Amino acid sequence: MSDITLGIIGGGQLGSLLSVAANKLNINTVIFSDDKNSPAKNFTKNFISGNYDDEKLIKEFLSKVNVITYEFENIPYKILKKLNEIKPVLPKPEINKLIQNRYTEKDFLNKNNIRTTRYSLIKDEDDIKINDGLIPGLLKTCTLGYDGKGQFKIDKKENISSEIDFTKEYILEKFVKLKKEISVIITRFGHQRYEIYEPIENLHEDQILKHSKIPAQISEKIKNQATNWATIIAEELDYVGTLCVEYFIDNKDNLYANEIAPRVHNSGHLTINSHNVSQFENHIRAVCGLEKVETKKIYNARMLNLIGNDIEDYRVKSFKDNEFFFDYQKTEIREKRKMGHFTIIEKEN
Ligand code: ADP
Ligand code: MG
Repeated sequence: MSDITLGIIGGGQLGSLLSVAANKLNINTVIFSDDKNSPAKNFTKNFISGNYDDEKLIKEFLSKVNVITYEFENIPYKILKKLNEIKPVLPKPEINKLIQNRYTEKDFLNKNNIRTTRYSLIKDEDDIKINDGLIPGLLKTCTLGYDGKGQFKIDKKENISSEIDFTKEYILEKFVKLKKEISVIITRFGHQRYEIYEPIENLHEDQILKHSKIPAQISEKIKNQATNWATIIAEELDYVGTLCVEYFIDNKDNLYANEIAPRVHNSGHLTINSHNVSQFENHIRAVCGLEKVETKKIYNARMLNLIGNDIEDYRVKSFKDNEFFFDYQKTEIREKRKMGHFTIIEKEN
């Protein structure tokens, strides 16, 4: 083992896969999760569980690690900032603060001349009525939403669901007629030093990612714009580590940045098998200050997310040598829960 120990906050599948990649690079991991049953405990030797604001646990975590990263964006800024005073947190806590709020995130994109859907901040029902130009639209909580959670379709200004809790802030986004969704994953090591993956084409079902594939069937123009924007975002944020930009493409072939994930991303799972260096390994290399390795595609690939009961068949199936099954080893199968994924590489590529 090397003398670097990486602390990872969050114990889901992303934390697990980061830990696997770290182990391959001889880097120890300590995973801190607020769920004692989180799957990542199966993938690390050092697992700490309890509330993220528990002073004793924070102290223990800090004493064991040299550098800290996180696998999800919904960690209170206060906590990341406090950790960062003692041990470096990468990406920087300020970046996470900006991105964890959909409103400040979209403002940041527009300030950098990156196109997004039209949107407005919504504090109450009247704000929706005033912004009827954004209808049909999607109302999304500014913070804490994922996999379509915290989102409401608004078809008519007269039809506003009574389930919406206006003690929270939202953004209302104009609904885009989607032709396609893509994502771009980039790992930045420092000023103008990065590795970028080609755009990945994504298909969502019920607002949850279901399929990803490379190459994406898109024009050269869209490909260049999407990779350029991802590079601008990473540079502007002075980012260190892996980030993902999710994009929409509409019927007229306009590109819109939908959201930034300040972390490794589900659509990049196929990079484990398609590239010489995966998004996870690149993230570890960047945040731990290891060497940057030129990242190349070896195979085209497709990934299928195994959601809920989908996993059961795969647990008993046998696989060909171009097929890779990942079981996140979650203790309980739940509807709409990401339980694992399955990647097929195209060997004849
Ligand atoms: P989450 O944080 O839940 O991933 P997203 O904003 O990415 O939130 O929304 C999830 C999915 O819902 C998107 O990938 C897309 O398929 C659909 N969606 C979100 N916003 C819009 C929109 N403005 N127009 C059309 N579809 C949308
Ligand atoms: Mg999304």
